[in-house]
Amino acid sequence: MTAPAPTAAHVTGSPAAAGEPVIRLDGLTKRFGSGADSLLALDDVSFEVRPGEVVALLGLSGSGKSTLLSLLDGLQPPTSGDGTVLGTALARAGRSELRALRRRIGFVFQQFHLVGRLSVLENVCTGALGSLRGPRLGLLSYPRAVRERALDGLEQVGLAAHAFQRADTLSGGQQQRVAVARALMQEPGLLLADEPVASLDPESSAQVMRLLARVARERELTVLCSLHQVDLALSWAHRIVGLRSGRVVMDVATEGIDRATVMRLYEEVAAESA
Ligand code: ADP
Ligand code: MG
Repeated sequence: MTAPAPTAAHVTGSPAAAGEPVIRLDGLTKRFGSGADSLLALDDVSFEVRPGEVVALLGLSGSGKSTLLSLLDGLQPPTSGDGTVLGTALARAGRSELRALRRRIGFVFQQFHLVGRLSVLENVCTGALGSLRGPRLGLLSYPRAVRERALDGLEQVGLAAHAFQRADTLSGGQQQRVAVARALMQEPGLLLADEPVASLDPESSAQVMRLLARVARERELTVLCSLHQVDLALSWAHRIVGLRSGRVVMDVATEGIDRATVMRLYEEVAAESA
């Protein structure tokens, strides 16, 4: 967590934070395995994320960030405790409810997960699949309205000129911007991102984080994004939730706070609980 981060445009001002929380976690716990060998990946995690908030989930490798994001996306159930995401209770929801939830959440992965042999535009179109019936073969199998929206999305991320290129001909930073456009196709009520810039060089990282800040602001989107760089989290988010060994060790607004304070908070609680 020591590498200097590129400067990213800050999401200006904290939102009014009116309305029901988009995420409400209440003692969320995830244990992998059982018996003596079991591992507590998330330990009694409780916090809320309000509409329009942009929150960085900060933590060292292995602290539980990816596990938390996958639980929030309904991909695996909690062991105990509960969480409510966009009104869906994770521990109690059935398969179809979780599938419906997933359609309302945009997810951006560290490794982009584009289909390299497909065109950039078709990759963005696949973001609408949850709302379409049946499999799709080729760009023209998508309704015109979907193709037009995808092209608009590519314009938003500054890549319309590359629409008909194969996705695997783009740089990492460009691929991640395509992945953001794809995640926005379903007009998500929540955007989750799991270390979206961990594979990118500093310049591309800054560009992707600026993009995430801009779309959050323009669409009043709620974003929870895991990062492992303090400076990046500070320059980008309204708020930082620090995760360490599966526990929330800090939860602070970024306004008026500096790197040293974040590090002290993160380390202090870790030292106390060691
Ligand atoms: P982070 O994303 O912060 O690096 P993870 O959520 O990937 O952390 O992992 C948290 C802990 O849970 C790690 O010790 C990891 O090895 C463990 N873990 C994650 N997924 C699984 C799994 N499917 N089975 C067993 N252990 C897992
Ligand atoms: Mg991870």
